Amino acid sequence: MASFNLLLLPGDGIGPEVMGEVKKVADFLGSAGVAKFETETDLVGGSAYDAHGVAITDAAMKTAMAADAVLFGAVGGPKWAKVPYEHRPEAGLLRLRKDMELFANLRPAVCYPALADASSLKREIIEGLDIMIVRELTGGVYFGEPKEIVTLENGEKRAVDTQVYTTHEIERIARVAFDLAKVRRNKVTSSEKHNVMRSGVLWKEVVSKVGATEYPDVELDHHLADACGMQLVRWPKQYDVIVCDNLFGDMLSDVAAMLTGSLGMLPSASLGAPDAKTGKRKALYEPVHGSAPDIAGQGLANPIAMIGSFGMALRYSFGLGQAADLVDAAIADVLASGSRTRDIAAKGANAIGTKDMGDAIVAALKKRV
Ligand code: NAD
Repeated sequence: MASFNLLLLPGDGIGPEVMGEVKKVADFLGSAGVAKFETETDLVGGSAYDAHGVAITDAAMKTAMAADAVLFGAVGGPKWAKVPYEHRPEAGLLRLRKDMELFANLRPAVCYPALADASSLKREIIEGLDIMIVRELTGGVYFGEPKEIVTLENGEKRAVDTQVYTTHEIERIARVAFDLAKVRRNKVTSSEKHNVMRSGVLWKEVVSKVGATEYPDVELDHHLADACGMQLVRWPKQYDVIVCDNLFGDMLSDVAAMLTGSLGMLPSASLGAPDAKTGKRKALYEPVHGSAPDIAGQGLANPIAMIGSFGMALRYSFGLGQAADLVDAAIADVLASGSRTRDIAAKGANAIGTKDMGDAIVAALKKRV
């Protein structure tokens, strides 16, 4: 039986609560003979600051660098509002992303049939939706230099952010998108603003070249980022994989995410480059939501985004696509049976807690394995 090392970083707030439910799923898959998951747990965020005075220790970073995958809960909360800036809870996540060189952010937007009526869009528009947004995470306007606010001679201020991309940065994110499309519905849409931005011209040119030379069998089209945002709410099912830069990806992934309802449902993955020798990628999997201090410690959090993030690890880090399909199907079964945590329950309807949702997903998995 294949064996994988997982570093669990539950973090703050509801992080430990939802991570506990992932452990149940991983333990079950181990007992069912699917794969063995050796887990190590460490602190990150505010809880690491309380224990060690930093948002993540060097020792935890070392474990993260050596792990087959890192599962991250959430960090932050009002308790740490006044800690020094460099030690704020988010610094732990930023260090993980930087040191592991996680340049590709994958955010699926999947609409479970049982939740189709919970979307702000009509059922026919989002029922059966399954798209993937691939966002470049380490370049572009959030990091480009110069990045400054200067005071001009006349006393006015001038702010500058720099949108900058190199061929190499575009090529590697394009390859992630094309590789994903090959195991999905074989279609990539590249989104930029080549009509008004030089970086958009280069983006389109490089993605087209990667597509034509390395992935001639994958369908490729190009949508201007503003039009893509519009199409996402008009007819999202036209898309399979959308690839875009850091800024447009930030916005388009949030739009796509909300097509499907609650924050408690949304998983994500951040991937690094494949190792030249082993072909393995460094990877971190985390729910899109934060630490939800308003419900932390009450057993109310929805663990589906966290369990779905583990499902992505099965698929993208461990090559266990079938097991990932089983986890997704178990989640769909539980939702179809009517079980809901409070965030996805209809107003006034009975809701179950975090642990009961985790148990229900494991029970549904048992029926399918
Ligand atoms: P949030 O995602 O924590 O919560 C927003 C709302 O969604 C809250 O009402 C919360 O109860 C609800 N919610 C979130 N996840 C849920 C779940 N799994 N089940 C049920 N309900 C859920 O965002 P926020 O309130 O803006 O931020 C709270 C803290 O989390 C802040 O300190 C913020 O900095 C931090 N944060 C961390 C991350 C991260 O760790 N990656 C991401 C976003 C926010």
